[in-house]
Amino acid sequence: CGVFGIYAPGQDVARLAYYGLFALQHRGQESAGIAVANGRHIAVHKGMGLVAEVFNRDNLRALHGDVAIGHVRYSTTGASSLVNAQPLVFRYLRGMVAIAHNGNLTNASELRRELGASGSIFQSSTDSEIIVNLIARHSQEPVEAALLHCQEELRGAYSLVVMTEEQLIGVRDPHGVRPLCLGRMDGAWILASESCALDTLGADFVRDLEPGEIVIIDSRGVRSLQGPRVAHRAHCIFEYVYFARPDSILDGETVNLVRRELGRNLAREYRVAADAVIPVPDSGIAAAAGYAEVAGLPFVEGLMKNRYVGRTFIQPTQEMRDLGVRLKLNPIKPILKDKRVIIIDDSLVRGTTSRRIVAMLRQAGVREVHLLVASPPVLHPCYYGIDTSARGELIAARYPLEDIRRHVDADSLHYLSLEGLFRSVQRGMEDFCAACFTGSYPIPIPSPEEATKYS
Ligand code: 5GP
Ligand code: SF4
Ligand code: MG
Repeated sequence: CGVFGIYAPGQDVARLAYYGLFALQHRGQESAGIAVANGRHIAVHKGMGLVAEVFNRDNLRALHGDVAIGHVRYSTTGASSLVNAQPLVFRYLRGMVAIAHNGNLTNASELRRELGASGSIFQSSTDSEIIVNLIARHSQEPVEAALLHCQEELRGAYSLVVMTEEQLIGVRDPHGVRPLCLGRMDGAWILASESCALDTLGADFVRDLEPGEIVIIDSRGVRSLQGPRVAHRAHCIFEYVYFARPDSILDGETVNLVRRELGRNLAREYRVAADAVIPVPDSGIAAAAGYAEVAGLPFVEGLMKNRYVGRTFIQPTQEMRDLGVRLKLNPIKPILKDKRVIIIDDSLVRGTTSRRIVAMLRQAGVREVHLLVASPPVLHPCYYGIDTSARGELIAARYPLEDIRRHVDADSLHYLSLEGLFRSVQRGMEDFCAACFTGSYPIPIPSPEEATKYS
C-alpha cells in the first residue's frame, strides 16, 4: 500500500493529496481514499480502483479542510472490497480520527481475539481496524500518547499516517520495515511512503522517519517522539528490488541506482554469449541497463508494454488469448528474429510472467533466450506486507533450478546470488529484511495455524 498525509492550512489539501496518491499509485491499485479534516470534522471519500478512477473534480471539491491523509491499497490480508478501503475514519472520546496503514501486522489474530474478548467489534478484515481499536482503548490520552502505547502492542510492519481534527501524525514501526518520509513545501508538511510523491508536488525532502518514530504536525509545528527501537533496523529489501518507484530515495538509497547495481552484479556473476539484453518492462529496465553496461552488450527494448492496462480493464477471455490478443506486452519482431537474447526481470515468483514472455520471444523467432533474474530465488513467504506468497506457490521453494528452467522454457536460467543482492545496497545486510530470500525473519512470524491464511 501507499500512504500520504499533508498539513497545509489554507491550501487545497484534497487536491494535493490526490496528486500525492497519484505518484504512489504503483504501491496499490485496488482502492484509493482521501480523508480531510477541517478542525471540527473529518470527511472521507474512497472507492475501488485507481486514484484517477475514484476521484473527480466534484468529489475532491467536497473535501475541504487543513489536513488530509490518503491511501492506495494493495491487498495482503483481507478481501478486496470497499469495506477494506482506507483511510478508516472513526469517532472516539476526543473527537474524530482517521488512519491509513501500509504494512502487515504479525500478531493481528492475537490482537483481534484480545480486543474482541474485551468488547471491540470489527467491520472489516484489515489490520488497520485493529490499530483503530487499540487507539480507542487508550482514549483517555491524546492520540500521540495512545500511539506510543500501540507501538508496544503491535508487532509486524506498519507505516501509518493518522489524522485528528487538527493534527497530522506519522508512525513507523520499530524495525522500519516499510518506508515513510517527511517533506515540506511553503508552510505545508507532508508525509509519504516514498519521496517520489514529494517530487511530484515540488516539495522538499526533509528526512526519513526513524524506526519507531512518531512525528506530530500541528499549529505548534513539528515534533517527534521516539517509541521502541530495536538493535537492527529491517528495511524491506524487496522495496528496492521491485515494489518502490525507481525515482524514489528510501532510507538513503536511490531505488533506480540499487536496481542498476543489481544488474551490474548479475553481469559480474554470470555471462552468456548473446546479441542483446532485453528488459521485461517496466520492472526489469534498470537491472537490464546495468547488466548491459557491465557485459558490454546492447540494451534493446524488444518488448513493448501497454501502460494503460488498469485493474478495471476487462480481461481477455481464453478464446481471445488463443487468438493471440496481446494487451499488455508485444514483442518487436524485426529486432528479435534470429537473435540470441538475454531477458532480465527483477524477480521470479511463480514463473508465470517469465514463461509467457519466453514463449512470446520464441514465437517472435529468437534463436536463444536466456532468462536472468536480478534477485535471488524467492523461497519464503512475506508476513510484512508484500503478497508474493498469496500470489500462488513460490516456484523456487518447490522445484530445483533445472526444473524451473524447463518450465519457463529458457535456454538458460540464472539468479543473482544473495551476496550480489547485498553488494547492491550501501547499508550493511544487518539493516535489511531479506527474509523472502533467506528465511531469516527479523520479526517473529505468526504460528503455523495462523500462518495458513498467508499461503
Ligand atoms: P511471476 O510471474 O514469476 O509470479 O512474478 C514475477 C513478476 O511479477 C516480475 O515481473 C515482477 O516484476 C512481478 N512481481 C514481483 N513481486 C510482485 C508483487 O508483489 N505483486 C505483483 N503484482 N507483481 C510482482
Ligand atoms: Fe520485504 Fe521480503 Fe522482508 Fe517481506 S520478507 S519485508 S518482501 S524483504
Ligand atoms: Mg514485472
